Amino acid sequence: MAESNNNKPVILEVNNLKKYFPIKKGFFKRVVGQVRAVDGVSFFINEGETLGLVGESGCGKTTTARCILRAVDPTSGEIRFLKASGETVDIATLPEEDMRHLRSEIQLIFQDPYASLNPRHNIFDIVGEPLFVIQQMTDRGERTERVRELLQLVGLRPEYMQRFPHAFSGGQRQRIVIARALALNPRLIVADEPVSALDVSVQAQVLNLMLDLQRKLNLTYLFVAHDLSVVKHICDRVAVMYVGKLVEMAPTDDLYYEPLHPYTEALMAAVPVADPRIRSAMIELEGDVPSPSNPPSGCYFHPRCQYAIDICAQEAPALTEIKPDHFVSCHRAQELTLTGIGEPGEAYLRSKIGER
Ligand code: SF4
Repeated sequence: MAESNNNKPVILEVNNLKKYFPIKKGFFKRVVGQVRAVDGVSFFINEGETLGLVGESGCGKTTTARCILRAVDPTSGEIRFLKASGETVDIATLPEEDMRHLRSEIQLIFQDPYASLNPRHNIFDIVGEPLFVIQQMTDRGERTERVRELLQLVGLRPEYMQRFPHAFSGGQRQRIVIARALALNPRLIVADEPVSALDVSVQAQVLNLMLDLQRKLNLTYLFVAHDLSVVKHICDRVAVMYVGKLVEMAPTDDLYYEPLHPYTEALMAAVPVADPRIRSAMIELEGDVPSPSNPPSGCYFHPRCQYAIDICAQEAPALTEIKPDHFVSCHRAQELTLTGIGEPGEAYLRSKIGER
């Protein structure tokens, strides 16, 4: 697998990934169409970095994450993962048995810490389960020691390990989820909206814990989110999805301050600000998000794009590296000068995540 620009190896490389869901109708369940949930997505993640995958709801970001975990089978495309052994495997076609072994290297953190912890199991059982089931650590004393270490790592007191999930706050429960995800020493963590169910006051604490763990354990994160304040706080690079396609990917600051895709510009402009007079001067995203079962021709964003020209409705633009490490799919990316997030929007994002 390739070396990345920052000299860290690429740990995950997704090439032309597609996931179509058939639309079936009638008594015989005849296939009458396809929902193109993920429609030719390509991106990479360097070892030790955080890539944010963002977009409006229904844009395909969660389906992309589910393909990487093989929670769903991709329709086509490659998902190349660099294993700890140095071998590269294609997750998209990996047999189920091999995928089971790989699951210790790739872990998931769910959105909702309330739903993802079994209320009838205590913390020792929850965090120790992967050690017992997958690592076959049958010695209870050894398991207790490892659970103790993991709880300390996520900032929880080990003496709480006999307690049950209901005794913990939302932030503490997400720490338990993270401890369980770390049990098998993963290298890639797919975090699907990991703080969106938490109070704003504890979101920054959990994000800072994730950053701290990343530094300590050289973790790589694929961070699926729709909250631009959260993404700005934690991600090194960001990939923006629109109707199943990736439209822009860049280092976080470049994407926020110098976007090259009109959709990204519109997302930045849609960040609320405290002063309503300023908000009224901003671009609003007009029109509905198109359906992935019947997307528009050419560039999928053209019906909503204020910069659209004739070619936009006819030809789909390819994702192209316009500046170093800055990829965009727009026919006019070279000529447009777009506006990034302004000071009021940025102040709002900072305040939302509890930064000054
Ligand atoms: Fe807008 Fe055309 Fe660029 Fe699509 S290709 S984002 S319609 S300018």
